[in-house]
Amino acid sequence: MTNITLIMGDITEQSVDAVVNAANSSLLGGGGVDGAIHRKGGPEILAECRVLRAAQYGGGLPAGQAVATTAGRLPARWVIHTVGPVWSDTEDRSDTLASCYRESLRVADELGARTVAFPAISTGVYRWPLADAARIALSTVLAAHPETVAEGRFVLFGQDAYDVFADTLRALSAP
Ligand code: ADP
Repeated sequence: MTNITLIMGDITEQSVDAVVNAANSSLLGGGGVDGAIHRKGGPEILAECRVLRAAQYGGGLPAGQAVATTAGRLPARWVIHTVGPVWSDTEDRSDTLASCYRESLRVADELGARTVAFPAISTGVYRWPLADAARIALSTVLAAHPETVAEGRFVLFGQDAYDVFADTLRALSAP
């Protein structure tokens, strides 16, 4: 099991091996975490994303999958782009959200990353209710058995998100 840490802050400021991006399937940038990563990381990240689009991801990166690029000027070595599912009132897309965390950890392991920073995937523009997203995110990372990743750091943007993740982690860790 990975050691999980929670912090309140900005994911672009994390000195970790890999930062996970809540990307959209175009891989060509967007708002929220995605916008912040490309703004701070500089054009090198977008250049690698364009190469991925021209090669194996011509149709875009499907939701639930993950792929790595350089982290450009961020204080990290890699950005792992993953596409969360958009929240749906009528369809259960929980498996896709869990897959984002599993696949990001798998890619991080392939890279040999020891520390990985995650945002609360799908809880922004994609409207996933925070408490449910926290339960899926934390239980998936708790259940994973990566080889090289020793720390999964959730970087929560604001007190509300931090509190929800902290309460959920306590509940999941209770004997
Ligand atoms: P999605 O499209 O997957 O919903 P968003 O980037 O819109 O992704 O939002 C995901 C979560 O990340 C939201 O809870 C949002 O408040 C938070 N967030 C936005 N900017 C940052 C940032 N710079 N660092 C960490 N979290 C952020």
